Amino acid sequence: MTINFKSEICRHLRTAVDNEEFFLCYQPIIDSRTRKLVCSEALIRWKNPVLGIVSPGEFIPVAEKLGNMESIGNWVMESACEQLGRWHQTGYRECSLSVNVSALQLQHPDFANVVLNSLSANDLTSEHLMIEITENIRIDKGDALDNLLKLRKEGIKISIDDFGTGYNCMKYFQKFECDFLKIDVDFVNGIKKGINKIIIDTIIKLAHEIDAAVIAEGVETREQYEYLADKGCDMFQGYYFSKPLSAGEMLDYLREKLY
Ligand code: C2E
Ligand code: MG
Ligand code: MG
Repeated sequence: MTINFKSEICRHLRTAVDNEEFFLCYQPIIDSRTRKLVCSEALIRWKNPVLGIVSPGEFIPVAEKLGNMESIGNWVMESACEQLGRWHQTGYRECSLSVNVSALQLQHPDFANVVLNSLSANDLTSEHLMIEITENIRIDKGDALDNLLKLRKEGIKISIDDFGTGYNCMKYFQKFECDFLKIDVDFVNGIKKGINKIIIDTIIKLAHEIDAAVIAEGVETREQYEYLADKGCDMFQGYYFSKPLSAGEMLDYLREKLY
């Protein structure tokens, strides 16, 4: 990313929530045994009138430095729950969503309340929500651990995203129980290499030892899917099943696939 582009991102990011420039996409997560939808991951998108579409990989690190990732994250949580509420009202009551959470958000004293309020404002119960945290989030900072423990006690499921690519991994397991480990796109993408096979096999075994389920991300081919299914991977997400969908496309998907 050029310095100019980065400073343009900074400039436009400050007003992006107020100007309603963000929207969410939803990527289906498929159960290994039934091959049916179990959940969808909410993924943020930013469309700025000057910059066009900016990917989360580009603007999230900037928002984290600027200090406004917390307000963006709260917008994501509230919007995801509103959308989930609408799907439930339409009759798709089995729908669940998985929402990515950033460090600043998780460490904030109000985070658990934001999540619980977003659920109750949309008549949703906690079993329909999963939050995704990465290993690089310091759970010993601020209120992160208290928030995680509180949310899990309330029945919200916790996923460790991009498992094996961060700094903290194993330490997490001493502090709280997690429900899902997500295998990173890069491990799945490089599945032909022996070392990636070993990493994937080890993550699946580890997850099952700690009673967590495994979600493989970035599944693009039948070969990857078959390898992962054979090794006992519980759920799949990736272009082989579906790309991230707009809210409208997701509704079509639900009509076609869920019932
Ligand atoms: P992530 O949470 O690990 O999300 C998975 C990423 O893999 C998404 O990229 C998704 O579009 C992409 N993906 C899905 N299927 C495939 C596939 O088959 N092949 C490949 N190569 N990629 C696939 P995306 O949407 O660009 O998001 C990138 C990252 O940005 C996310 O990684 C997450 O860390 C972060 N992110 C996205 N939305 C949010 C959000 O609302 N809040 C926060 N805090 N972070 C977010
Ligand atoms: Mg994620
Ligand atoms: Mg991931």
